[in-house]
Amino acid sequence: MSQKIDENVINQKQFESAQAVNLHRYDISTALQTSLEFDELIKIFGCKIQPIVPHCGVEYCNSEFDMHLKHGESASCSCSYTLKVEDKPLGELRLMRGHSFTKEELDNLESLLCCLIYPLRNAALFQQALKMAYTDVLTKTSNRAAFIDCLQREIKRVSRTTQPLSLIFVDLDDFKSINDKYGHACGDAVLGSVASWLTDSVRGSDAVFRYGGEEFVVMLFNTDAENARVIAERLRKDIAAHTLAYGMEAINITASMGISVLTPNDTAESLIKRADEAMYMAKRLGRNRVCMG
Ligand code: GH3
Ligand code: MG
Ligand code: MG
Repeated sequence: MSQKIDENVINQKQFESAQAVNLHRYDISTALQTSLEFDELIKIFGCKIQPIVPHCGVEYCNSEFDMHLKHGESASCSCSYTLKVEDKPLGELRLMRGHSFTKEELDNLESLLCCLIYPLRNAALFQQALKMAYTDVLTKTSNRAAFIDCLQREIKRVSRTTQPLSLIFVDLDDFKSINDKYGHACGDAVLGSVASWLTDSVRGSDAVFRYGGEEFVVMLFNTDAENARVIAERLRKDIAAHTLAYGMEAINITASMGISVLTPNDTAESLIKRADEAMYMAKRLGRNRVCMG
């Protein structure tokens, strides 16, 4: 009988600890409402739980968004949690430090993780919406809005470094005649194929966007004029070498390309304009060629 009563008694230390966790829970929830960025949420969570669960590093992975974040240092001991809400996977969180976590710390951490999962779910929904807004439905490449955002970000970033940045404008030649001869659905299939040839042909670190209609743009990070020309020539030859089977038809297509390389005084508009003008020069010179802007 006395044993049963003892089990239900919370000692002073446990009571104070529970109170501290409750206070932190409110503080953490409020702080986590300020962002929809995974990186920011993990940083805030890591900082806020530091007094309750001291740690030297925190890692977060989310395969849906190809994300692997790390703040602080790695260490020999860690605890990991797979996060989920209503069957929606929300990635994995790992805390690290030099000695093992106590049972009480793990209980507190599990209780505080409840504050993190809904903000993470909101961030996931926001990122999904952003991804859809930035994706071209037909070709599954990134669209013009994504290109403009990416270019503005890159111009800002490279202005702090000496890294070159190049663009290749790609316009399919006589594309209207493909629609006219084989129908619009065939034109759509050609656009989808060209998008995957381009994506497969550039390095994983470079980016392909559908700029509009039958125009694509390739952004080449850390690539100067000489290398951009080599890459553009390879892309041009790749496109010309492919044959697309559409029903009983064998379809060949070529593209004209214009290159521009970022100079210190460039804006996104001036860089795009030079690549576009170079592409039109390639058209004037007879199509299926690369010109430098
Ligand atoms: P040029 O060599 O001078 O570039 O000639 P072109 O025929 O490629 O260029 P033009 O601008 O005359 O025609 C582009 C065509 O691309 C016309 C338009 O109907 C077609 N187009 C644009 N977007 C799509 C699309 O999403 N699907 C299909 N099937 N066709 C498209
Ligand atoms: Mg065009
Ligand atoms: Mg065209």
